[in-house]
Amino acid sequence: MPVVPPDTSANQYVGRFAPSPTGELHQGSLLTAVASYLDARQAQGRWLVRMEDLDPPREQVGAADAILRSLEAHGLHWDQSVIYQSQRQAAYRERLLSLQQQQLCYPCNCNRQRLKTLSAYDGHCLLQPPVDGSANAVRVRVKNSEAITFEDLFQGQQSQHLANEVGDFVIRRKDQLFAYQLAVVADDIDQGITHVIRGIDLMDSTARQIYLFQLWQAPVPIYGHLPVIVNDQGQKLSKQTFAPPLRDSENSQNLWRTFVRLGLNPPHDLKAADCETQLRWGTEHWHRTRVPRTESINEGGGGRLPPWQQQ
Ligand code: GLU
Ligand code: ZN
Repeated sequence: MPVVPPDTSANQYVGRFAPSPTGELHQGSLLTAVASYLDARQAQGRWLVRMEDLDPPREQVGAADAILRSLEAHGLHWDQSVIYQSQRQAAYRERLLSLQQQQLCYPCNCNRQRLKTLSAYDGHCLLQPPVDGSANAVRVRVKNSEAITFEDLFQGQQSQHLANEVGDFVIRRKDQLFAYQLAVVADDIDQGITHVIRGIDLMDSTARQIYLFQLWQAPVPIYGHLPVIVNDQGQKLSKQTFAPPLRDSENSQNLWRTFVRLGLNPPHDLKAADCETQLRWGTEHWHRTRVPRTESINEGGGGRLPPWQQQ
């Protein structure tokens, strides 16, 4: 299948930050927000914010507003209005329909126990369709026999053989919610996203997403996956690991620490500057090649230099 290259000419850059409102912003999500912001602003591009409120049971009341307030408190102002996935159901339905019309989907009622035993989905429900049509998931067929390869901005070349490593994958869940993979690609297409900068925990989803871009004949964005911040136990900072929310009153320290983690080597006196000044400095000094080419950064970094900058 031909890959349509993205239009990366000047001013065409469109980046985004796409948080799920499962909790407040923490050091880990700030790293992603700042890196995507700096990359977009340095390219004189647009930077959009999209609220991924696709999965109500996982969401926390008030988190979406708290995230937006916190972004603003850190001087991270976005372009255009914020898009909410909860209001995009009609667009997702249409995307699903277009795949169904091409006979690229089928219902699946495999249970969790069965799925756990598989390294890639084996096409069971394609061969033996479920009789009861009510509470089924929908899978998209993975027909390409070649590996999907992309050049990650930070992690270098990546490759995944979808058919062997993933198999036909879910685009609508059993509970009838649209799957993350479908929603995120539908949104990235409709928002004209050219660059996706996000945490490395999502790198494993990228081949599936590129495949959907190809099925919908849309230009594939450039991807960059950042290391995630881990705590002393090596766990990714998240609501589940009780990552403390950012204090907006410490906005300048937070940004400065994020610059350190991104390898920007900020001067010490920048720590006391206001966020606007810091972000201007950051936009000028942002270098993709300085971002650590690792999977994780230890949060213990505090004000100290991270290991890759220590002599
Ligand atoms: N909403 C996802 C998250 O918070 C990010 C999706 C993306 O950047 O593609 O983990
Ligand atoms: Zn099945």
